[in-house]
This record gives sequence, structure tokens and C-alpha cells, in this order.
Amino acid sequence: MDINLLKEALKGEPAYRFKQAKDLVFKQLIEDWSVAQGLPAGLREKLKKEIPLAIAAEAVSSESKDADKAVIVLADGVRIETVLMRHKDGRNTVCVSSQAGCPMGCVFCATGKSGFKRNLTVSEIVLQLLFFARRLKITNERIDNVVFMGMGEPFLNYDAVMEAVRLINSKSGFNIGARHISISTVGVVEGIEKLAKEPIQVNLAISLHASNDALRSRIVSANNKYPIGDILWAVYAYAKKTNRRVMFEYIMIDGVNDSDDDARALAALIKKRFSLKLAFINLITYNPTGEFKPSSRERVRKFKEIIDRENVETTERHRFGREIKAACGQLAYGSSNNKKMKNN
Ligand code: SAH
Ligand code: SF4
Repeated sequence: MDINLLKEALKGEPAYRFKQAKDLVFKQLIEDWSVAQGLPAGLREKLKKEIPLAIAAEAVSSESKDADKAVIVLADGVRIETVLMRHKDGRNTVCVSSQAGCPMGCVFCATGKSGFKRNLTVSEIVLQLLFFARRLKITNERIDNVVFMGMGEPFLNYDAVMEAVRLINSKSGFNIGARHISISTVGVVEGIEKLAKEPIQVNLAISLHASNDALRSRIVSANNKYPIGDILWAVYAYAKKTNRRVMFEYIMIDGVNDSDDDARALAALIKKRFSLKLAFINLITYNPTGEFKPSSRERVRKFKEIIDRENVETTERHRFGREIKAACGQLAYGSSNNKKMKNN
């Protein structure tokens, strides 16, 4: 479903038709133009041919029912993964991909290890949300939050990501508030600078994972281009301009970045630049993807305690969907065994 093609297809029609069609797609979540009773039959036929609404996907549910992973097959055969996380309080978050694969190559990330294919288009990003919105509609639920934490680095596909964000946010689109949309970046400085100038104020998350450049370069190769100092400077400018609170993500990897000294250095780094109001640290359980092990519960507790003592706020990320490889950093090119093809 390409919104620009939809506009194009409706050229020559009265202006209200575009709004009506968008409403059918994003609000009524129709899966076939045949059911669009408000449209003339001829137009329904034309849209059926030119703007197909079917999404080719395989859906895999997690055993614990807290996450659903979908493998979406794009028009050129490229497969991407997207995840619906079901929170205990009833809210639903979709974790979308912005690229097929990722060129950044972080050593702990399955996406990074699987290489890079291409950027996704606006429609391919939006498709991921349509897929889950249609499923949720059956149980009278909706998507409450969107996080760009799936495959890829959003700021390497900045324009498409921001156009998708505007559609997600717009009243005639998914109508999801900017405060319920988050973009996570490995620290692409130009992207952070551009985001600071956007009129729409989404949440920004920075994948830090280390408090010194030597260690960060070992696990996040993008650190050579975007070292910690440059990132923090850009984030500081962003926070100052927007007055928006920034989340620093920190994966807890056993024996790599989880010592008491690491905790102290991390707290000091954040404290030096940010007031408590403008930054917090999200400690993420490392989801195994090969060579590393997650830090023990006890280690995470101690690490958190040290940071808390420094009066820097920490939160912990619940791990969704580990058993279906739907957790952060476990997304690759549709590796699922459950080949239940579904045309949604
Ligand atoms: N490229 C962006 C967004 C996608 S990754 C970024 O790096 O921020 C989304 C989050 O998942 C990031 O914080 C990333 O560091 C984290 N992540 C990657 N691999 C992971 C793993 N194996 N376990 C837990 N989190 C992981
Ligand atoms: Fe890319 Fe983010 Fe994975 Fe790093 S963590 S390889 S930036 S998707």
C-alpha cells in the first residue's frame, strides 16, 4: 500500500476521495477494496488493481503470548521482521524495522550480523503497522506505541522514517501521539541534529552500551565514526532545544560492559551533561545472538544500584518474545521455521 500511488490513482476524482480512501485504509483497516461500499464500483475495481491492500506475511506467535513476530515479504522478495509486544496492562507496542538488515554491524546484534540489503520505503515501514493494526482490530484493540527498534538504523533512512512518523502521527493516518513514537539510533549525529529541528516531537533513544570509546568501538563499530563525545554533544543540544527527555540504552553483556567501574563511569558520563529531568538509562537484557552471555540478574541489580546511588534514573527493559527470536537484536531475514503463509 503506497500512499503516494494512492494519491496518484485518485487524481481526477473529487478531493474528498483521498481522505475517504485513507480513512478506509488506516481507520477501518480494510484488507480489500471490494468492501469499500462508499466508493463507486468502477473506482473500487481500479484501486483493486493499482493499490493492492494484501500484505504477504507469515505470523508467528510467541509461546508466552507476549509477542508476535511477523515476517513480511516485500514486493521484491526481501523479507523483513516486525514485532508486536503485548504489555501486561493491555497496551500494544509495535517494533518496526527501518531497513532490511543494517550496515552498522554491532557485534551483539543479529540484524547487524546478517548484513545490509536496502532501505525501506515509507509504505514498507507503514505496512508493518497495518499488518498488526488489522490483527488487533479483531479483538477490538489498537496499536498504542511505535518504536523504531526493529531491523536497521532509522537515521540512515531519515527521510522515509520521518515521513512514516508523520503518517503514523497524523489524524488521517494511525493517529498515534508523538509521545508514543520512539526512534532508537546507534548515534548517527546528523540524524540527532535533524530531529532536533523537526516540529514533531517524538522520543529519542540512544544506543550507548559503553561509557568509553575503546570499549564502545569494540562492540559498536559505528563508534569510530560517531564517538561518545560527539553523540553526547548532539544529544545535549537536542535536549536543550526540545526540552525532551532522552533515553540511553545500555545492553548488559556478561564480563564486557557490566562491572562496578562501568556503572560508575556510565553514571558520571550522563550526570556530567544532563540534569536528571532530561536523561535516563534503560538497562537492556542482552538477548543471546552468539558469542556473548547476558549479565546475571545479580550483576544487573548491583549495576543498577550503583547508578541509582548517583541519582541517575534507570529503568529495565522487559524481554519480549525471546523464544520466537523476536526480541531486540534478534531480528534477521525471516528465519522462522513456522511457515504458515498468510495473506493479510
Ligand atoms: N539501529 C538502532 C535501532 C534498532 S536496534 C539502534 O541500534 O539503536 C534497537 C535496540 O536493540 C538497540 O538499543 C540495540 O542496541 C538493541 N539490541 C541489539 N542487539 C541486541 C541484543 N542482542 N540484545 C538486546 N538488545 C539488542
Ligand atoms: Fe544496526 Fe542497531 Fe543492530 Fe547496531 S544494534 S547493527 S545499529 S540494528
